[in-house]
Amino acid sequence: MKPLTIAIDGPVGAGKSTISDAVAKRLGILHLDTGAMYRAVGLCAMERGIDPRDEEKVSELCVAGGARVDVRYDGGRQITLLNGRDVSREIRTQEAGQAASTVSRYAAVRRMMVRRQQELAAGQAMLLDGRDIGTVVLPDATLKIFLTASPEVRAKRRMLQLREKGDETPFEEILEEVNARDRQDMNRPLDPLRQAEDAVRIDASDMSFDAAVQAIIDQLEVRHDAE
Ligand code: C5P
Repeated sequence: MKPLTIAIDGPVGAGKSTISDAVAKRLGILHLDTGAMYRAVGLCAMERGIDPRDEEKVSELCVAGGARVDVRYDGGRQITLLNGRDVSREIRTQEAGQAASTVSRYAAVRRMMVRRQQELAAGQAMLLDGRDIGTVVLPDATLKIFLTASPEVRAKRRMLQLREKGDETPFEEILEEVNARDRQDMNRPLDPLRQAEDAVRIDASDMSFDAAVQAIIDQLEVRHDAE
């Protein structure tokens, strides 16, 4: 029997990573946050003084093996590695997110990431979250979810997260960033963010965290009952 695979896609700030983590824990399977891998490529470019907008240099970095991105698990927790170095914390900055969004438009970067993600998911039960999981990485996933929330709700969540870190960026600015990232992710020619035809759409704007987790688990049960 094919191992269980769950694809969760959606825009920035919909809570994909934390919700995916909780769903995977409840099911006792591994969670691969694929955005972390694109962030590692973005970080690599920044560290080498390469402008993320320079497609040629970024692609060269990937093809020549200068940006080896890998993932390993420590007690179920994902550790993201860049050339063997643990960068799980460094990739969480706003700059790395923006750089990731830029470098993820390039064919060489996407080819490398998609291949690695498919290898990681081969032969084991796994939940992957990202932008193109249901459409490109795992077109045959057992369950596909498109998790979204309104831009205002996503910007507000982001604002609260930033406040916790002492960052007082105003709401309007964050909302503009959320909208800009949506535009960038949805309008790129390669593997744009879109809902797979067979994905279930969950709008978590008015849902608590636990309700969103439960909504996904419920969908798995619906699928199971239908088989
Ligand atoms: O999910 P996260 O915000 O960490 O992802 C960072 C960026 O990586 C996204 O803005 C998106 O452009 C890109 N990405 C992607 N495909 C994925 C996951 C992330 O293009 N599967």
